[in-house]
Formats: sequence, structure tokens, C-alpha cells
Amino acid sequence: MKLDEKITGLKLWHLSLPVLSRRDHGIGTVEGACEVVVLSLTSESGHVGWGEASPWSVFTGSPEASFAALDRYIRPLVLGRSIGDRAAIMSDASRAVAHATEAKTALDSALLDLQGKALGAPVWALLGGRVRDRIPLSVSIADPDFDTDRRLLDRLVGDGVGIVKLKAGFKDHAFDLMRLEVLAKDYPSLRVRVDFNQGLSIDEAPARVADIAAFKPDFIEQPVRYHQYAMMARLRDKIDVPLLADESVFGPEDMVRAVREGICDGVSIKIMKAGSLTRAQDVARTAAANGLSAYGGDMFEAGLAHLAGAHMIAATPEITLGCEFYQASYFLKEDILETPFPVENGQVVVPSGPGLGINPDIDRLDHYSVTKVAA
Ligand SMILES: [Mg+2]
Repeated sequence: MKLDEKITGLKLWHLSLPVLSRRDHGIGTVEGACEVVVLSLTSESGHVGWGEASPWSVFTGSPEASFAALDRYIRPLVLGRSIGDRAAIMSDASRAVAHATEAKTALDSALLDLQGKALGAPVWALLGGRVRDRIPLSVSIADPDFDTDRRLLDRLVGDGVGIVKLKAGFKDHAFDLMRLEVLAKDYPSLRVRVDFNQGLSIDEAPARVADIAAFKPDFIEQPVRYHQYAMMARLRDKIDVPLLADESVFGPEDMVRAVREGICDGVSIKIMKAGSLTRAQDVARTAAANGLSAYGGDMFEAGLAHLAGAHMIAATPEITLGCEFYQASYFLKEDILETPFPVENGQVVVPSGPGLGINPDIDRLDHYSVTKVAA
């Protein structure tokens, strides 16, 4: 049986990918380059499965930790295993190294890509089947120089993008209000979401969030620190637009607690937080079962991670608020995929070929590599 094929090779690239602009979030800044770790698994018949870990040190963890988790702790439990034993390998990985959710997601993506290529099936088929083949794209507005973002906004409107997420709370309140006023006046076709990325203090959050809510964005995301559940619940009660949790909810276990403590109306689901594509689906199902909405968030990713996220959302009916897989198209100077990550008229187009549907360009992996390990 094809799924009995053994995994015989594991390669890693730690990449530093130059970016087009600066991105400020409530918890930190990305400027110059972002760093991701790419994993390949090779089977005995020569199929290659790909995965990407896209950490951010201030949010989920560091690229060095992702690389070490895969190279030192996960490698020994992958080589020699059958490509069909994904659940067993992921269960072993969950015990081999704590946290390191981005590394585990890269492993899950590579195993699914391998299985899909061996079976001739897209990853979405292995995750339950397709519920959608297009996902509305949201692009983040996060440059401290709003004139730069205005040029991006003009480009987005021209490209048919219909949703933007305003990153807020990294400068003063007046800057956030000014940008919301410009969006309402000059870009009325755009749906607007606001994300503080934990940027507000407990003292300032109630008044600032109430002011933002007056603009009636689709939702307001994570105003305060991830552990401040009581303040999240208080803010949720205070405003009449949905409050989303992002940094407060990594995996299904956090989602259960978030529901129990009433901290949000919806959740930003990210494969890099969840620790696998399946666990991301579990977060969505728990949210939906409790009447909460779900959004497909991401980290500072390259196209390979976007692909994994797109397949997951394609197979997850509970994620209804679109996705933010914009970095490959609008943030990186050059993405790593052989053909561009597919976006048409403001929608991510879910690939239908075997596995993830598009491979990375190995020359580009080597070119942007800071560290590389093969075996
Ligand atoms: Mg967020």
C-alpha cells in the first residue's frame, strides 16, 4: 500500500526573507526581513512533502526554537516511519517537545503533503473534503507611515481586495482614529477589522476600544495581553461589535477556557498557534459548537504556510470570516513558491492538485538560507 512507504529523508532550511515594508503591531515590529523554517520529508519512492514553521519571537516563539525542535527532537521519531502514520507521528511529536507549535504544524503539513502526493489527493481531501474553493482575503494595514499604507490601499482596491485589517495600538489613539476616518471616507468599499495585538494597557483599553467600536468594524481583536481573560470578558460586555481573541487562544484547550470564561465572540485561528492543521480544525469546531465565529489568521508567513492554511480552511466550514494570507503577495520581496500563491480578485484560490498543490523553489530556499541541515 502506498501509505506504507517509509520516510527516508528530512531536510531543514532556516530562511531570512527580505520584506517590502515595515509592519508595526501592538506587540512588536517586523522590519527588513522575516524568518521562517522550511521542512522537507522524502519517502522511499521519492515523493517530497513540504512544511513551513513561521514563528514570531514576540508572539509564538523563535525560528531557532522551531529549527531545533524539528532537527533535534522530531527528526528521530519521523525517519523510518510510514507516511500513513500521521496521527501516530504527530502524537509522538506532541510529547517529544513542549510548545513549538509552529514546528509541529510544519511537520503536519509535510506529512499531509507526502500523503496527498502518494495518493494523488489534495490536502483538503485528507482533512475532510472541500467546503469552499475560494477564501476572501484580508490584508493588514500596519505601516507607521500611513502614506505608504495609502499606496497599498489603492493597490488593494485595484486588485479587488475587499477586506483590510487595521493594526492599531502601536502609536497614539489619534493615529488610530485618523486612519479609521480616512478608511471610512476614502475607501468606503472596504470592510474593516481592527486588531490591537495586545497593545493596550488595562487602564486605557475600555475607553480606546469603545471609541473604535463607534466606527462599527467587523470585529475588534485582542486589545489586551493574552492572559488578561477578565479584561477581555469586560471589554466584550462593553461594546456592541464582536470581540475576537487571537493571542489568548492557541489550541483547542485554550478555546475551551475562552468559551467558559466568555472572553470573545470569535477567534482568530492560526495553524502556527494550533500545532497542526487538525488541531486548528478542532479550535474552529469548538468555537462553532459554542456559537462563536472563526477567522483564518496567520503569522509572517511565506507561501508554503499560506498553502497549508488555505487547505485547512477549505476543509473547515466553521471558518467563515475569510483569511489573511497576504504576505506572499504584498509583503515579501520574493516568495519561495515555484508559482505564485494563488490570489484572484481578492480571493485566495485553493489549489486542487495532489498534496499542497505547489512546491517551493529549492534554489530560492538555498539562496535565502541562513542555516541548512540535511539527512
Ligand atoms: Mg491578531
